[in-house]
Amino acid sequence: MTQETRYVVGHQQPDTDAICSSIAYAHLKQEQGENVLPARCGEINPETRFVLDRFEVDDPDLLEDVTGKQIILVDHNEYSQTAPGMRNAEVVEIIDHHRVGDVETGTPIHCRIEPIGSTSTLVTKLYREHGVDIPEHVAGLMLSGLLSDTVVLRSPTTTDEDRNIAQELAGITGVDVEKYGRELLQQKSKLGEKTPREMVTGDFKEFEMDGGTVGIGQVETVTPEQVLEQRHAVLDAMHEIREERDYIFLTLLVTDLLEEDTEAFFVGDRQNVFEQALDTTVEDEQASLPGVMSRKKQVVPPLEEAMK
Ligand code: MG
Ligand code: MG
Ligand code: MG
Repeated sequence: MTQETRYVVGHQQPDTDAICSSIAYAHLKQEQGENVLPARCGEINPETRFVLDRFEVDDPDLLEDVTGKQIILVDHNEYSQTAPGMRNAEVVEIIDHHRVGDVETGTPIHCRIEPIGSTSTLVTKLYREHGVDIPEHVAGLMLSGLLSDTVVLRSPTTTDEDRNIAQELAGITGVDVEKYGRELLQQKSKLGEKTPREMVTGDFKEFEMDGGTVGIGQVETVTPEQVLEQRHAVLDAMHEIREERDYIFLTLLVTDLLEEDTEAFFVGDRQNVFEQALDTTVEDEQASLPGVMSRKKQVVPPLEEAMK
């Protein structure tokens, strides 16, 4: 009997780590004789497009709804970030580098979550553990996911393992980490024709905190002025979104990848809690967060603590 096809899927509004780790992990499983395909549940962003073109890899198939399917989750494990239908799918495996979320399973599954810089780093480790050779294009994809998530090894989420594995993958791919990394950052910053609303929702996550839901968007860029000079339009979009979705508050982190600083827009209630948690002052709905690059590590934990 042939095994039912399993799909490796990353989160909504997929980033380069989500897409690249799904392709790389599906390849690893195929090498082990399993019937596994990479998939995605959202549009390919410009940075990821650059990566797929560069290594001549096809887009993973788009899954509009995963109801009834067998799913391997990569790069997330919370229902607020999953593909539509996930509550009625069978999650058979999780490979991630985020906090443990709320995805439930009916039976015990393989689950690998580590506090490292990217899911791509973790997938590289799995190739090593299973003794499977990493083809050049797969090394290129995993290096891209790793460098994208860690902002070329600059984010505080970066570990020594990420640094070592980046060098190893760069060796296989034949690129220079810093040089290729800078190319990637340029791509990440391409906001193109994004509307203010798309700037807010492009890389967006919801968090259930004491008292309700908080929305946190992030724009990672080498040209933050492109966003900051549109502050009125961006703030208007944020007010709209907050009203539609009934958030306690909504913040947009505009992260300058080269300066390693963030300017945050803030709309909503509990401003004093936000200020206290992040040790800042909100003036005209904007606050400076020097040294902040990581939503996951530097913004969410203090906010959750302060909201208690
Ligand atoms: Mg991700
Ligand atoms: Mg990731
Ligand atoms: Mg990210």
